[in-house]
Amino acid sequence: MVTILFHETVFGPIHSRRLGTSLGINLMPNDGKICSFDCLYCEAGYNAQGKGQAGISSREEVKTKLEEKLSAMRIAGEKLDVITFSGNGEPTLHPDFEGVVDDVIALRGKYFPDVKISVLSNSTMIWKKSVANALMKVDNNILKLDSAIESTMRLVNRPANPDFNIENLIEQLKQFSGQCVIQTMMLRGSHEGRTIDNTTPQETEALLNAYTEIKPAEVMLYSLDRPTPEVKLQKVGRDELEQIAARFREKGIKVQVN
Ligand code: SF4
Repeated sequence: MVTILFHETVFGPIHSRRLGTSLGINLMPNDGKICSFDCLYCEAGYNAQGKGQAGISSREEVKTKLEEKLSAMRIAGEKLDVITFSGNGEPTLHPDFEGVVDDVIALRGKYFPDVKISVLSNSTMIWKKSVANALMKVDNNILKLDSAIESTMRLVNRPANPDFNIENLIEQLKQFSGQCVIQTMMLRGSHEGRTIDNTTPQETEALLNAYTEIKPAEVMLYSLDRPTPEVKLQKVGRDELEQIAARFREKGIKVQVN
């Protein structure tokens, strides 16, 4: 199984094709993965690998490690575009996610006031008031919606909560009143004999309807970039992503292809 874990709470900076020079914050364990999804394409591998032994860093630990790093980067005159919450699972599962976000905003103000703060989230915790509050405070609230068709979402994202469903999710995504970016992974292939393809007319129509309801500031379309735990997945090429994006743009959706 493919497993690429981040072994630090604050990692990088790395160059992100989507976000620029990015300093990462991993709120999940440094030696395992915790996520409320178990996506077939997860670069961190399947949840079955386990949570590891290290546990989740406390708010104080995150603050201390980030301050050390930002201070050192400023002294060294290093460039930074963005601080990004991502890592070994879903950052909004951290029990004090809003407190961590408040600390990161304060430290950004102290060391790199022009830098943006991004959160890459799978959208499963946005029902929680403190998580939604925190996401409204960051510059780039990037939320996952890979398919607006229930069976495809279940097949690709494999939510841990059996009650998680697309209809509720779309309602919850509307609460941001456009202050969000929807990120959609386009892919095709198969898993355990079931075909996956979220580029079909039926899928893109459902996505378009969802985007129209959610009214995000922007949609980010992307495809596979690294090896995936399910090996029978295929990348959707850039030309095809652009063709899909053009259909969404025709309907007034702002779309970025990565
Ligand atoms: S939501 Fe992200 S971290 Fe979680 S399984 Fe999917 S790709 Fe991996």
